[in-house]
Amino acid sequence: MTHFSKEVWCNYILDLLSNSERESMEQHLYECDHCLALYMEIIDEQNENLPMINDSSFTNEVMEQINFEALESEEKMSKKQPRQIKSTLIHYIIATAATLIFMASGLFHYIFTVTSSFEQSSKQSGVSISKQILNKTIHTSKTNGGSKHE
Ligand SMILES: [Zn+2]
Repeated sequence: MTHFSKEVWCNYILDLLSNSERESMEQHLYECDHCLALYMEIIDEQNENLPMINDSSFTNEVMEQINFEALESEEKMSKKQPRQIKSTLIHYIIATAATLIFMASGLFHYIFTVTSSFEQSSKQSGVSISKQILNKTIHTSKTNGGSKHE
């Protein structure tokens, strides 16, 4: 079995050979582990020397594009987000203010009715509120004590 040299394999990889030569080399590659190893070695070397993949300027260009796109999307997001936050804040404030107004008006109305009813009852009976409360507590304690003893 005659092996092919590294240079010939280089020419094969670089597609510099005729079709008949290529076919015979491909056939040899299937049968010969030594030439397969040599072929793989040359491919590795070729990959290291490939300008497109390992060129730092190319990768930098790609990275810059990615960064630019990312920044652009971030800008869009930052432009959208404050508006959304502001609108939700305004809605929240309005809702809170409305709730507070309703609560306060309801509370004031309740306080007003309670005090007016107290005033009316005290005027009608001619007895002070403190005496009324005192009478009520005495009455309830009497009934409780009576029920316990009986
Ligand atoms: Zn061989």
